[in-house]
Amino acid sequence: MRYISTRGQAPVLNFEEAMLTGLASDGGLYVPETIPTLSEAEIAGLAGLSYEEAAFLVMKPFIGDTFTDAEFKEIIAKAYVGFKHDARAPLVQLGPNHFLLELFHGPTLAFKDFAMQLIGQLFQAALSRSGKRVTIVGATSGDTGSAAIEAFKGLSNVDVFILFPHGRVSDVQRRQMTTPSEANVHALAVEGDFDDCQAALKEMFADHDFREGVKLAAVNSINWARVLAQVVYYFTSAVSLGAPHRKVSFTVPTGNFGDIFAGYIAKRMGLPIDKLVIATNQNDILHRTMVTGAYTKEGVTPSISPSMDIQVSSNFERALFDVYDREGAAITQLMDELKSGSFAISQGAMDRLRETFASGRASENETMATITDMYARSGEVLCPHTAVAVKVGEENLSEVPMISLSTAHPAKFPAAVEAACGVHPALPPHMADLFERDERFTVVPNDLEGLKTLIRERLA
Ligand SMILES: *Cc1c(COP(=O)(O)O)cnc(C)c1O
Repeated sequence: MRYISTRGQAPVLNFEEAMLTGLASDGGLYVPETIPTLSEAEIAGLAGLSYEEAAFLVMKPFIGDTFTDAEFKEIIAKAYVGFKHDARAPLVQLGPNHFLLELFHGPTLAFKDFAMQLIGQLFQAALSRSGKRVTIVGATSGDTGSAAIEAFKGLSNVDVFILFPHGRVSDVQRRQMTTPSEANVHALAVEGDFDDCQAALKEMFADHDFREGVKLAAVNSINWARVLAQVVYYFTSAVSLGAPHRKVSFTVPTGNFGDIFAGYIAKRMGLPIDKLVIATNQNDILHRTMVTGAYTKEGVTPSISPSMDIQVSSNFERALFDVYDREGAAITQLMDELKSGSFAISQGAMDRLRETFASGRASENETMATITDMYARSGEVLCPHTAVAVKVGEENLSEVPMISLSTAHPAKFPAAVEAACGVHPALPPHMADLFERDERFTVVPNDLEGLKTLIRERLA
């Protein structure tokens, strides 16, 4: 299995190289050269398997010969052993034909653990074999950072630096990043917003000397291995509801388009997905794009679903690459236009996007009202991100079962949840002492050169 860049100018890599590199050197994102498919019989055969067994069968075609079957099975087993639910990704029912896929039973209580725990084990296995060392720098709107720190802390061949927007993540999110005491963990509070953090990260990758000097690796949602890990729960949940003999739809609370892009890959692999519904909060660039065909940057307005507070949606480039017939030059041109704030998507490309994706948006009030309402109607306490999905999912109900993704535990966002439904969501027992632990982080100006210097100094 070979991986190519969406901008067509970076070297073609194998799975291990694409995973360790993250962002391609031409500024593009790595995608598989061809998408493997599972037959109807193979999909049907996933029924009744454990999450780990299904994960092995779904992901194996993508990893080539990077790991033997036995090694890959062990990696998967280690990745998910820390999850607090035997099903890993259980389904619960919200109402007629509407289901919730709970993705928050991992160590940091958000769906990002599915990808990050796997990536931690993949990196460890690959690096300890080669004796190499890498520096992971990640930008986070809240949940990625804690998931990365939890996955990489204490690993011997990795240093992990996480950039998060100072004062713009929840207390629980910040404490999950700032309380681990392992020496290879560096939490950096940037005086800016998430897009500033992400922009700094992209600049670091574009700086060849820095990139090579510190052996930079990215584990943001642009990392292909992360997308891959997320493909699995689309299969396990769909099969639970009758796939491949019955279609299902998904509504996905979306920021960087990583999670929903994994659903798109599942569909391309043969899973009978009817609609993939993009659910955004008030930072709705993707919803506006689906409605108007113009991808236009606006400022970020902080919301009660902070992990979706983004201005540009990095992984959308991967979807564009496909609907532009995989022409790297076309994508390069669109991304150049975006530097001045906007690009228009061709009618043909929009038609193809709309064949697969629908979209919707939830305002702050609608998000709150959905938490209130769902608690009254089903007893389920939703986190604000999940409420965005549930609101948009309800608007898209049909005769096809709808699965809305529940991406975080409500206890990560207790203030909004309590204000909406009167229930104070308690942290699970393994995190009950989070507010007693010591914090350790550095506040840094939003300045690229300063950030690079700090990273070099910490590594020295
Ligand atoms: C990251 C995150 C999202 C958005 O996921 P993307 O892959 O960036 O679209 C949604 N909900 C929660 C809780 C998250 O942490």
